[in-house]
Amino acid sequence: MTVPTLTLNSGHTIPQLGFGVFLVPADEAEKAVTEALEVGYRHIDTAAIYRNEEGVGAAIAKSGIARDELFITTKLWNDRQAGDEPNAAIRESLEKLGLDYVDLYLTHWPTPQKDTYSHAWSKLIEIRDAGLARSIGVSNHLPEHLDRIVADTGVVPAVDQIELHPAYQQRDVQEWADGHGTLIESWGPLGQGKYPLFENPAVATAAEAHGVTPAQVVLRWHLQHGFIVFPKSTKVERMRENFDVFGFDLTEAELAAIDAIDPQDGSGRVGAHPLELN
Ligand code: NAD
Repeated sequence: MTVPTLTLNSGHTIPQLGFGVFLVPADEAEKAVTEALEVGYRHIDTAAIYRNEEGVGAAIAKSGIARDELFITTKLWNDRQAGDEPNAAIRESLEKLGLDYVDLYLTHWPTPQKDTYSHAWSKLIEIRDAGLARSIGVSNHLPEHLDRIVADTGVVPAVDQIELHPAYQQRDVQEWADGHGTLIESWGPLGQGKYPLFENPAVATAAEAHGVTPAQVVLRWHLQHGFIVFPKSTKVERMRENFDVFGFDLTEAELAAIDAIDPQDGSGRVGAHPLELN
């Protein structure tokens, strides 16, 4: 199965479907990533704060897969945005991952009260220019943060990785991204299992119509919207299920019915709010 790729503003390509390892314990990460690579995933999303970069690196090393066939993302944790800390942090992440470069490096949260996110972004530009990251982007940035970093540096992030699922679509961030050539990465694409998404009639009806699972419908919804997605599961059957989403297309009406799940008052959010996490 060939996963489609999207082109980032750096000119590099990214597989639109990957495998995320948030909350995968360090001692399970090597096994989970090994299985994901066997299933066919080539894009792995980790972060320094997940504390499993070593396990991810061990799985990559053992896989024997050529480096240029893999797409590896990691993230700068919030307490390392100031001074020259980002340069130290990327070197530590690369050491743990056993890599010379990552494909994508992100600032994890803006943590606006600290007011160091724009400085951190300027350090990510240095990191990219030093060849330690092929592409750079941000996570959990709202339009006000995105405007600020672009005004300060003139450099537009390749991606913004935000909480995005049918009940919380962050259309204001999507609009900013569309207007600036930034791609959206959806974290928590299945709502982290925190609300009854799979029983929602729009999802359940489409699943029945296409003979697929509700999770496959939701992932397909992300992909047809052009979002990059990396669902997490430590169960190999679910890794396979989540990878098998290229054999059907949702209709415009099915997409619209799932679009309408968002109450648009912010109440569908399942994770932290970028203005509150500091
Ligand atoms: P997710 O929406 O992928 O949900 C994961 C949960 O869904 C797991 O508990 C799993 O058991 C369940 N699940 C997975 N596949 C399923 C299936 N086919 N059927 C039924 N249940 C299934 O949430 P996530 O893991 O939080 O998000 C995906 C990735 O996004 C993470 O692993 C991480 O890489 C990234 N992430 C980033 C941030 C950030 O701040 N940048 C925050 C959270 C997650």
